[in-house]
Parts: sequence; structure tokens; C-alpha cells
Amino acid sequence: MKSYTKYLEFNTKNRKAFINITPEVEEALTQSKIRQGLCLVNAMHITSSVFINDDEEGLHRDFDTWLEWLAPFSKEKYRHNLSGEDNADAHLKRTIMGREVVVAVTEGKLDFGPWEQIFYGEFDGQRKKRVLVKIIGE
Ligand code: ZN
Repeated sequence: MKSYTKYLEFNTKNRKAFINITPEVEEALTQSKIRQGLCLVNAMHITSSVFINDDEEGLHRDFDTWLEWLAPFSKEKYRHNLSGEDNADAHLKRTIMGREVVVAVTEGKLDFGPWEQIFYGEFDGQRKKRVLVKIIGE
């Protein structure tokens, strides 16, 4: 069995962002030369997510509105922020949107369902963050 590891780096201009990272993951898969297996993609920070959904601008704005309704940004509202941090909302958003995805690799391609794309969700950005891509198979 072969394995391949790659770290993607992000430093978003804004505090929050959704970034389609499918091309970077496909590039890693090409470099891995793995034809059959599994591809794990996970955020390496507890205030950012990796998730799969549609690459549609309206949906991304809906996600943002929904997340702000569930866990609005606030310095005062959360006990976590009593520690001196201001990112409690980002921890909650990350938990809702998830840590990682696993995509099957078939014939050297990510075996997606219709419209599926992989996204990095940033909820406390403007600093260096990483995503791990780990591909195993043969
Ligand atoms: Zn925190």
C-alpha cells in the first residue's frame, strides 16, 4: 500500500472564508500516483473546517447567515472568551461544519457524487492555517 501526505496552507484576508480546495486535492492525488484508495482531507485547527458541498455562491451566503444565526460573533456572549480569546463562535462554527472529509479514489480520480466539491471553511482567519491531505491506497 502506498501513502501520500501533503499540507495545504491558508492565510485568509478576511476573518471568515469558504475556499474551494478541490483543485489542490486533485493535484495531490495526481502526485500520489494512487489509483484506488481513500483520500482524507482535514482542517488542522479547531476554528476551521473541511466540508463537501455545492460550489454555489448563494448557498455559501446561506451557510454564513445560518452559522451567524446559530453562533453569532460576539466577544461577550461566550464563556470561552472569558479566557481572553474572541473566537468562541469560530469553535462552534467549526464543530457544525465538520473537521474532515473522506473521498473514495477510483481509477485515479476523486469519486464524487453530483456537484460535490471540497471546501475549506475559515472562521477565525487572518493567520497561517493548515489542512492535511492524506491519501492511502495502491
Ligand atoms: Zn479559542
